[in-house]
Amino acid sequence: METNPAIKKEISAFMAGLKKRNKGETEFHQAVHEVVETIIPFTAEHTKYRDAYILERMTEPDRIITFRVTWEDDAGAIHADRAWRVQFNNSIGPYKGGLRFHPTVTQSVLKFLGFEQVLKNSLTGLPMGGAKGGSNFNPKGRSDREIMRFCQSMMIELHRHIGEDVDVPAGDINVGAREISYLFGTYKRLENRFAGILTGKGLAFGGSLVRKEATGYGAVYFMKHMLEHSGTEVKGKTAAVSGSGNVALYCMEKLIQLGAKVLTASDSSGFIHDPDGITREKLDWLIDLKENRRGRIQEYAEKFGCDFHQGKTPWGVKADLAFPCATQNEVLIEDAQVMVKNGIKAVAEGANMPCTAEATDYFLEHDVLFGPAKAANAGGVAVSGLEQSQNQLRISWSREEVDKRLTTIMEDIHSKCVRYGARKDKPVDYRAGANIAGFVKVADAMLAYGVV
Ligand code: NDP
Repeated sequence: METNPAIKKEISAFMAGLKKRNKGETEFHQAVHEVVETIIPFTAEHTKYRDAYILERMTEPDRIITFRVTWEDDAGAIHADRAWRVQFNNSIGPYKGGLRFHPTVTQSVLKFLGFEQVLKNSLTGLPMGGAKGGSNFNPKGRSDREIMRFCQSMMIELHRHIGEDVDVPAGDINVGAREISYLFGTYKRLENRFAGILTGKGLAFGGSLVRKEATGYGAVYFMKHMLEHSGTEVKGKTAAVSGSGNVALYCMEKLIQLGAKVLTASDSSGFIHDPDGITREKLDWLIDLKENRRGRIQEYAEKFGCDFHQGKTPWGVKADLAFPCATQNEVLIEDAQVMVKNGIKAVAEGANMPCTAEATDYFLEHDVLFGPAKAANAGGVAVSGLEQSQNQLRISWSREEVDKRLTTIMEDIHSKCVRYGARKDKPVDYRAGANIAGFVKVADAMLAYGVV
């Protein structure tokens, strides 16, 4: 993107200050840099935001809670892991954002995710602030009972900091229905109250239909709008998907429903390439493998007789569409170059920040339609917001009702991105559009509150 020298200087000065205040937090620097590159040119024209120091205030979390989680494994050994809740910004609603359990979790990772969540939640149009939390606990290979004890111990501290009008966590990597259930059950015992203080709950105790599918479905809906806006459609396209977790599996499901051919799936050990396409039947088998049997992606290759590429990501496979749905920084500049060479038409980020800044720039420079995470994966938190509404109203909407609302929300997000990201003789810059549209709502609320 062409930026004038004064703006470039302002961006550099802003980032130098942020890096000084947040030493070594590289993921957080990356997420903020990606946003300020588009917001500083905007605030230079809309000076009320600059004069009120909104960007400086918005990049400082309201608070970060750090605590120890002590738990006992099945052999009686004691462990002490670290957990966090980053309550980033509640200007437009109670804090909302997932919990992640993974050995790579650090304060920097949670700050990047919490910051992105503020803008994403704003884009949904629902009254939700932004937060993120989790632990460096590694659940791989742990028994159900060990996971349960960890979740119980975590909630013993977390319960003080959450509440339906305060902060409503949800799932994220390695935090699915099982973990949310253990966490919710413990909250209920500790507080002696049944309230919608977590989302992603089981259907028997306040969960919403379509929540499990929402992020993956939403990413495909967003892709559908990007393609239709540029005169084409999902039907008949080939797609490369990474991951085989919650987001990836339901992204594949919706792609298959809309008539695309899904060629790949992965986990942290490698990827499978199925040139015949992952069909509905094969996907059912994969969902059972991942959700119930907790198996590895390699087993798909063994079962259906296709290639497994150990330790590799799927971006070398020629496809029209790409959906990175595993984790941050999984699409590198080298991958983007290969994808463009192979004729990729559009990328929708199912995961959070899966494309590095260089890879994203490369896509935009080569006119690849690029749906950034803030917009493309906002369907998950949007249906979490709908789960909160249903809990407050003490009703349950039908699958059709929730899906209809999700579809409308994704369409609205697409329109907001077009409003702020349309360019002359170039495809829409969805990255800029999402950043500005998300920013404006939060910034206006902060301006209205005065200096607090
Ligand atoms: P899951 O834990 O269900 O699945 C994660 C998938 O990504 C697994 O296949 C996992 O493989 C793989 N993966 C995780 N870490 C790595 C890594 N470091 N390298 C390679 N592969 C990895 O998580 P979700 O599907 O819920 O989340 C995936 C992404 O989507 C995350 O970025 C998350 O923040 C984002 N997201 C999730 C939402 C949701 O509603 N769940 C909402 C919005 C965004 P393995 O099993 O081998 O670890």
